[in-house]
Amino acid sequence: MSQDCLFCKIAAGKIPATKVYEDDQVVAFRDINPQAPVHVLVIPRQHIATLDDLAPEARAMAGCLLERTAHVARELGLSQAGYRTIINTRGHGGQEVFHIHLHILGGKPMGPMVARG
Ligand code: AMP
Ligand code: ZN
Repeated sequence: MSQDCLFCKIAAGKIPATKVYEDDQVVAFRDINPQAPVHVLVIPRQHIATLDDLAPEARAMAGCLLERTAHVARELGLSQAGYRTIINTRGHGGQEVFHIHLHILGGKPMGPMVARG
């Protein structure tokens, strides 16, 4: 755990969040500023700042993160209609919280993927 990381604190239950799933490796919770009818963030409990910081040793965890993201989307009832997943990396990627996370966006057609800003 990184002491001053918001998402580490959410994973540890030190800051409240609307969790929709958690196990020993990952936590999923609703985004505080939703950009779609369903907007959930999926994070590993392990603190990794960005996708670029993902080491080969973390491959198993990364696979788990991806597979659990699909599981969470399924539990949220998004699978059949479909949904979008996004990982933002550093400045040009628009990353605001430096603890790796997948966005799940769904509940409406997300349209073509266009970069904003
Ligand atoms: P990113 O820009 O990819 O780093 O995304 C960070 C996301 O975290 C944004 O969509 C924020 O709305 C969301 N966020 C920030 N603080 C919280 C919080 N306390 N609880 C839930 N989501 C948050
Ligand atoms: Zn963290």
